[in-house]
Amino acid sequence: MRRRFYLFLQRRRGSMPFAYRYRAKKRYYKCPACRTVQSVPVGYGQTKVVCRRCGEIYLRRT
Ligand SMILES: [Zn+2]
Repeated sequence: MRRRFYLFLQRRRGSMPFAYRYRAKKRYYKCPACRTVQSVPVGYGQTKVVCRRCGEIYLRRT
């Protein structure tokens, strides 16, 4: 539904809306154990994040 709306805008303006084009595709979360910032691709619902430094597994909503 949302995608269709943006396609509609695209057709109307001739280019993608600014916010849609430059929307962040990654999110950054801090590991609760070692405080390293992890970059996580934005998905839907809850995502399991594994820390690359200490191997801590934690859940975050993306
Ligand atoms: Zn960690």
